[in-house]
Order: sequence, then C-alpha cells, then structure tokens
Amino acid sequence: MASSNGSNNGNGSNGNGANGKAAKNALRVIPLGGLHEIGKNTCVFEYGDDIMLVDAGLAFPSDGMHGVNVVMPDTSYLKENQKRIRGMIVTHGHEDHIGGIAHHLKNFNIPVIYGPRLALAMLTGKMEEAGVMDRTTLQTVAPRDVVKVGQHFSVEFIRNTHSMADSFSLAITTPVGTIVFTGDFKFDHTPVDGEHFDMARLAHYGEQGVLCLFSDSTNAEVPGFCPPERSVFPCLDRHIAQAEGRVIITTFASSIHRVAMILELALKNGRKVSLLGRSMLNVIAKARELGYMRAPDNLFVPIKQIRDLPDRETLLLMTGSQGEPLAALSRISRGEHPQVQVKTSDTIIFSASPIPGNTISVVNTVDRLMMLGAKVIYGKGEGIHVSGHGFQEDQKLMLALTKPKFFVPVHGEHRMLVCHSKTAQSMGVPADNILIIDNGDVVELTADSIKKGDPVKAGIELLDASRNGIVDARVLKERQQLAEDGVITLLAVISTDGVMAAPPRVNLRGVVTTADARKLSLWAEREITWVLENRWNQLSRNTGGKALDVDWVGVQREVELGLQRRLRRELQVEPLIICLVQPAPGGTPAYKGRAASEPDTRPAPRNGRRDGSPRQQSAPAPAAGAATTGVGAAPAAAAPVAVAEPEPAGRTRRRRSAAAV
Ligand SMILES: [Zn+2]
Ligand SMILES: [Zn+2]
Repeated sequence: MASSNGSNNGNGSNGNGANGKAAKNALRVIPLGGLHEIGKNTCVFEYGDDIMLVDAGLAFPSDGMHGVNVVMPDTSYLKENQKRIRGMIVTHGHEDHIGGIAHHLKNFNIPVIYGPRLALAMLTGKMEEAGVMDRTTLQTVAPRDVVKVGQHFSVEFIRNTHSMADSFSLAITTPVGTIVFTGDFKFDHTPVDGEHFDMARLAHYGEQGVLCLFSDSTNAEVPGFCPPERSVFPCLDRHIAQAEGRVIITTFASSIHRVAMILELALKNGRKVSLLGRSMLNVIAKARELGYMRAPDNLFVPIKQIRDLPDRETLLLMTGSQGEPLAALSRISRGEHPQVQVKTSDTIIFSASPIPGNTISVVNTVDRLMMLGAKVIYGKGEGIHVSGHGFQEDQKLMLALTKPKFFVPVHGEHRMLVCHSKTAQSMGVPADNILIIDNGDVVELTADSIKKGDPVKAGIELLDASRNGIVDARVLKERQQLAEDGVITLLAVISTDGVMAAPPRVNLRGVVTTADARKLSLWAEREITWVLENRWNQLSRNTGGKALDVDWVGVQREVELGLQRRLRRELQVEPLIICLVQPAPGGTPAYKGRAASEPDTRPAPRNGRRDGSPRQQSAPAPAAGAATTGVGAAPAAAAPVAVAEPEPAGRTRRRRSAAAV
C-alpha cells in the first residue's frame, strides 16, 4: 500500500518547514468544530491534494443568541478548497455529527458520503428537505467495510457501541500511518441491539501500530466505567409498573436503544404508546422501517385516540428532554399543548440528562410540571439514564487496545480534553506526544512527529429558523440590544440643503428610562443639529445639478451614533436606535427648534471638567485621541448648566467623529 511510501517521506519531512508551512508529506487533521464544546463535530483530513471529511454536525444556540436555531461551524476553509474534497465519512446519526451536512451541501459538493444505514436514512430526510439530494451520492456501509477516499485514504468501519444504534469507530489508513478515530463511543458489553463493539478489530490495528488516536472526551472527568444501556431497563420498568395513571416519558428521539427499551416496556406493562414531537415520530418511523426497533403496529395509538383509553393503559413518549421551548413536553408544562394537559395522576420521567447549557430550562420545566401536580422523576440517582459516552475506564480501554504513538483528545470542552490527556499519560503516552487543540488548529502528522501547523479560519455561523438566513454578529448584537434595552425610532425631516425642517419624532419600545419623551426629542434635536452643522459638508456633495447629492444613510448613522452615546452616557442604557430621515425639498424653511431656547443639561464635558480638571477651558482635544469615556456622568437631573446651542466646538464633537470612523 501507499504506507511504504509514507514512511520514507516521514524520515526527511520532520522539522522546520519554512514559516511553519505544512511539511509536504504530512497528514493534516483539522477539526472545524467539536473542540472546546460539545457539538458540531466536523473534521477535515488532508493529504497531498485530497481532502476527506469526517462528520459535519450542528450545535444548539446558547442563551442570548436570540432567534438562532442552530449553530454551524464556519466552513470558509472548505469552500475555498472544495475542488479537493473527495468524500465524507459519517460515524453515526446524531445531530452533532450529521446535522450540518444538508446545509453544507448548499455551499459545496461532496462527491460521496459513506456512512451507516441508519445515519444515512436520517440524513436523506434532511437532504430532501433542503433540496440537495443531487449534490452527493450516499453509500451505505456495513461493519468492517473498507472504503477508499481519494488517492490517499482508506477507511475501515469498526462497529462500536453508543447511545445511537449503528455507530462506528474508524481506522483510517494514510500514507503516514494508521489513525484511529473513535467517533462517539462507550464500551457496552451487553448492547441492547446485540451489536457488540468489534474490539478484535481495534486490537488488530493496535498490533499493527496506530500512529495517532483521536478519542471522544465527553466523559473524561468521570471515573469508572460507563454503565451499560441495559442497566436503565429495570429502573424504568419499576417506575412504569408503579404508575397509577398515565406515564409520560421524554428522551432524545435519537437515543434509539432507549426508545426501543421504552417501547418494549410499554408492551410488557400493557400500555399503548402515543408519540409526540416531530423528531420522535420521524426517527421512530425510520428506525422501525430499517429494523432497528421491533414494535408491533398495534402498540401505537394516535394522540387523539389515546384519550379514549384508561390512563393506566397509556404511555406518552415525547420530545422535550432538554427543556426546548417548542418541544412537546415544554408546551405541556406551560399548559399550551392542544392535546395533552397534565393530570395529578401522571408520572413524568426524564430519561435523559441535560446537555450543559440546558440545565436551567430543564429544571424550569420540571418545576412547572411538579406545580401542576404530576409526579416527576428526573436526575441522577434514579437509574433512568446512562450516558452514551465512555467514562475514564472506557477511555483507558480504548488506549490499551489501540496503543497509539500520538494522541489527540477530541469531542469535548477544554477541561475534558485536559483530563483525557492526563488519562493517556497515565497509560504511558508521553506528554510530548499529545496535542490539545482548538477548532481550526491543524494537527500535522508524519510517521514520527506530531505538531501544530498554522491554523485555518474557524468560527461559527448562526442560522435562523429557516436555516437559510445567516445571523451574523451585527444581527446578533442588535437582537441582544432589543432584548435588553429595547428600541428607539427617530424620524427626522431634513431638507436637501441641510436644514431641519420639522421637529423630530421619537418613539420608544421596551426602553426603561427616567427621561421623559420631551427630553428625548430635545436630545434628538440636538444630535440632528450637530450633524447638520458639523458633518453636512462631508455627507453631501455638489454633483453639478441643482440639488446636492446627500448621503442620507450616513446622516442617519451619525445621528444614531450621537444619540446612542448620549443615552449611554446619561442614562446608562443602550437601546437599538433607528433613525429614519425624511428628505424635504431644498428651500424648506427651517424648524427653529427648542434646542436653542432650552439649556443643555448634558453633563459632559463641562460638568465633568468642573471638578478640577486642568483642561476645563483648554483648546479642543486632538481629534482622534479624544474618545474619552471617563467623563463623569452626572444624573440627567443635575442642575442645568447654562450652555446654549449651538455648543461650542468641544470634546463631544471630536469624540463623535472619532466614533464615526
Ligand atoms: Zn453521538
Ligand atoms: Zn457526538
């Protein structure tokens, strides 16, 4: 194979490539997501002219990402190098591994995607929805299948055990050596579906020599072995058997084994099952169709009909284990579900643990359900949930079987990566042979070296509900402002020869302020006046015709900035400010305004300077450097200082023009 080639190259290529450029014959492994976080796992393998992707997932938004539905990795690097993409490998069907693929296919083609049957079946649904079925070819693999991707990669699919059925670890043979990429795994010796972890295959590669292991770090902080999935069966059984009324269970739809057990328990306990939540319906339909779940058709009853059965004979299986606001159980907890209302005889079981970040929404949901009188079973210690990711001893077993020369912990937050690296060191992997990396870092591997290369662009892309609109940083900032401080709209009427032709109209929505509307419109007037007096020349130019060519957007922007600064300074609020300018024809008489007749109570700069500042009356400060913010913001109600408009040339102007750059 090509590997003899690689070891020759390995000898000479180590060391100082100019400017840290990639050693010509190095394998480059570049995670674009999944590090320092849980979610959006996306990894790039690169050798010579070939790029192979492993998984492409999504993550869910954190609080404050208003209106963001999903978080994707920035894929600029892939867009730039799309001609070199030879194919993708999918390890299993969880959203954090396949959830990004349909979206990426809108941006670049992937010639072929190899993956397990269940994952590809789920992916097909997403691709059909996105209309990208023609952008790739899907190829189903079976355990121990070997596929070739590009000239340089061949990948063996090694059956592993995880909370999702049909899941694989990978042995990737490259010119520099073999990489074992674990994917998500735990060692479950009594798998629910009878599909055992193919440890013999891992050991085989360990014997042959593994250059580098990339291993799942999710539970690196947890000592011991992860209990088998089967261990939740008796606990769930007990709770279901004891329930006097309806049983309501929530879990991840994609936890195929868990769902299969719950269906088995419903059958055993003589309860009919109703499914609620789109993903629950979809995943179970797919899994049954492909034979990953065996449940008779007559076990299921539509939600509308289940009300006709005695409560004791029903079980409702639904989404919402993470407290997602729109999921079935969350809506039920708020009394907003059209078909299901909580009864005091209900037993509600959370057979899942919150993903970090979701804890608060989950406990809030639990609280609401309890307040409605239901018996709620949740949390550790009830034996109703086990993780799908191995603990420290599982991770040690992986290291023991594969005996890697180099080690890179992946799939986890930073402290988990550090912890996993310590575990590897305790197993004899030298610290120098371990890299802890971040998204966008480049791992450069040769037959005898590992190092970080120059990073590539990595970050996040936020998608809104349509999954088409990208929510960029500016939009996100605006939404945060709206949520926190509300919005102020300001309508200004300005003639094309630069005079304010009518009083500005100011509207507030969601703004908490001590200032009354009169004061706000006075402030608005001052800002408009200031812009007209000081910035008009730059914002308008004579193009030869009768009228001036005015940059109205620039005028709006200047007024917004000025008002924003004043509000921040005087009221400590930062609402979103939207200024609209209504242009009036040249020659429109000027609106005189109250600004001239009313004193400016603006505390800065004069007020601030009054307390002994040596520069009180000094000449204007240097333009750019004058963006001081340390001016003491006296309350707006401070004694008016008799300063009439127009303000003398002073710091405010300078400050503003600095801000406008
Ligand atoms: Zn997974
Ligand atoms: Zn995962």
